[in-house]
Amino acid sequence: MTATPPRPRGHSTAPQPRGHSTAPQPRGHSTPPWQAGTVGSAPPIGAFTTPSRPVDIGAIFPDLRGFATTATRLHPRPGAPGVTDTSVGGPLLWPADEPWPFCHDGGRHYVHRLQTPATVHRSRAILAAARGRDLTAEERDALPGWDFSEPHDLVDQPIPLVPVAQLYRRDIPDFAGPDDCDLLQVLWCPLDHPDEHHNPRVQVHWRRSADVTGPPVVPPEPPVVRNEYLPTVCAVHPDQVVEYPPQELLPDSLAERITAWDDDQAEPLYEYDLSLSPGWKAGGFACGSVSDIWEWHCAECGTPMRLLLAAASAEWGDGRSWRPPQDPADADCYVTGVCIGRGWDLNILHCPASFDHPIRAVGA
Ligand SMILES: [Zn+2]
Ligand SMILES: [Zn+2]
Repeated sequence: MTATPPRPRGHSTAPQPRGHSTAPQPRGHSTPPWQAGTVGSAPPIGAFTTPSRPVDIGAIFPDLRGFATTATRLHPRPGAPGVTDTSVGGPLLWPADEPWPFCHDGGRHYVHRLQTPATVHRSRAILAAARGRDLTAEERDALPGWDFSEPHDLVDQPIPLVPVAQLYRRDIPDFAGPDDCDLLQVLWCPLDHPDEHHNPRVQVHWRRSADVTGPPVVPPEPPVVRNEYLPTVCAVHPDQVVEYPPQELLPDSLAERITAWDDDQAEPLYEYDLSLSPGWKAGGFACGSVSDIWEWHCAECGTPMRLLLAAASAEWGDGRSWRPPQDPADADCYVTGVCIGRGWDLNILHCPASFDHPIRAVGA
């Protein structure tokens, strides 16, 4: 891995999103990634898109454009991606000669309701099949009770990390990583860590995919997980959007003018519809609604950190206008099964001064 210089945050002109129409927009790969080798049944990239913003806020406040950045929304949806696909919760292209990572926190985990991965998958399948109707008695009986837990001492052994996301640079316009790497893999320990603010403990790997050789690696399965920390296997549909900073990050005078404009709207727009996109995304601004995320600086060098990946609880949630038009009207915004805190995002941050500096994960 090599250090790379920080990228300037402000752009002289607002970046143009690639996928803002409601029509699917293929990206023009010479060889589509889902045909590039292994399994994989990912629909075409761009199959889910972000509707145009209700207003062009950059046209109303031209001085805001200099603070714009882009994010790549992933739009994860259940699927069967392969190791050569970009995915959430899907199989990782893992070197056969590299040990799978484990968490050794044992009794330092906070344990409450533990489930086996098989129970989590079975419960999600039952609930998905029953969408739009009441559960049958048999289905209800097959779900674990609200206070059910596997024995707590099952965490007193090394816990294999689970795949959270695998991003190929070719698919993600806002990919961040060392210049010579084309693959980012994110894993986490699917249990609560008190010293991580009761979040999963995250690990990231940047790789050169061409260097990964050998037979496919079948990862070990954790004996137990916290239900909310086991991502459902999803294909992704990357979609680049423009984001503007939270008002707290803008100069006071600009923030005040935006507030005054917002007060004249039928309902407030800036925070919910114009600044940060919700859901899983690479790059863009981190959500800081709960903790002061923009105050987080690199532990190694003090540089303000940037968002590498947001692992979100909800794909649209309160963001009324962000829901892709391709989703059916009754679609659930809780797509991946992941829930952080009370429905927050886990913001995985990196240091822009060096990819060798430690990442940080903040729930907000
Ligand atoms: Zn752990
Ligand atoms: Zn640093």
